[in-house]
Amino acid sequence: MKLSIVVPCYNEEAVISRFDDTIRTVLAPLAVEYELCYVDDGSADGTLHRLRTLAQQHPRTTRYVSFSRNFGKEPAMLAGLREATGDAVIIMDADLQHPPELIEKMLDLYQLGHDQVIAKRSREGDKRLRSALSRLYYRAVNTWVDVELTDGVGDFRLLSRTAVDALISLPEYNRFSKGLFSWIGFDTVTFDYRNAAREAGETKWRFGSLINYGIDGLISFNCRPLRLAIYAGLSLASLAAVYTLWIIGAALAGGVTAPGYVTLVAITVGLGGVQMVMLGLIGEYIGRIYYESKRRPHFLVKETDGTARTRPPAGA
Ligand code: UDP
Ligand code: MG
Repeated sequence: MKLSIVVPCYNEEAVISRFDDTIRTVLAPLAVEYELCYVDDGSADGTLHRLRTLAQQHPRTTRYVSFSRNFGKEPAMLAGLREATGDAVIIMDADLQHPPELIEKMLDLYQLGHDQVIAKRSREGDKRLRSALSRLYYRAVNTWVDVELTDGVGDFRLLSRTAVDALISLPEYNRFSKGLFSWIGFDTVTFDYRNAAREAGETKWRFGSLINYGIDGLISFNCRPLRLAIYAGLSLASLAAVYTLWIIGAALAGGVTAPGYVTLVAITVGLGGVQMVMLGLIGEYIGRIYYESKRRPHFLVKETDGTARTRPPAGA
């Protein structure tokens, strides 16, 4: 059998060569044919240069695709999956946070016939606030979203050819892989591992991008949040009706008195806020339709090694 390792890299100059060495050392004793598919996601440092060198050193087992700019990890993973020719594909981060020793275990589980072998990281060593927040988030998401999202389950996994073909057949522009993996289904098995610290370089996640990622997860899979908006609107409208009746009753019984400035302001501001949130929600969905309707490619390629399937534009 042949194994492909897909590695999205964005500014990973500091660690990419070490990653390559480590992976080859781990793979050598395993009796599998393999290839490493690197995707340079428009790095601004020397990542591409390193990839060229690696491809020269190991021409038969290295391929790379380099994007014209930074498109994000999702498009990078998609490019890597399209590039991979193996019977099974493992997606790994370039920073060695995904322990290469686990590859053997993943292959064993794959041989047993599983289509997705998921390595789930434990949150030991994470900041306590961050783990608590993620637990809360996943509980909320799973009540609202159709597909199951699990805490600690990321992109580190082995996919069979069947699963890979299913994933690349999904054409959507906005890719939320965590959900897509779960959406395609197939025979799935999960095991736990302890996450390692980043070997070198730094994480590309900022707190803001985590929040955006969270919102993406909530609305990428169905329209249920819109239904939540309907329920919220209905409840507020009923409350308002009851309150109005009560005011009218009070006026009939005791005559008109005019206080209520605070109530008015509170209601106006509160309702204004709720409406903004709901509008934003609708806007998010419309924005997604907008992106999908443009039918732009997920990424543009500026350079590949000679063997890559994806071709750079003519003249590049
Ligand atoms: N990555 C990428 N494009 C991006 C951001 C990240 O290809 O725009 C890659 C990055 O090079 C790494 C992987 O995605 O191989 C995970 O990124 P990072 O280590 O920053 O995330 P974390 O491990 O902190 O979640
Ligand atoms: Mg990392």
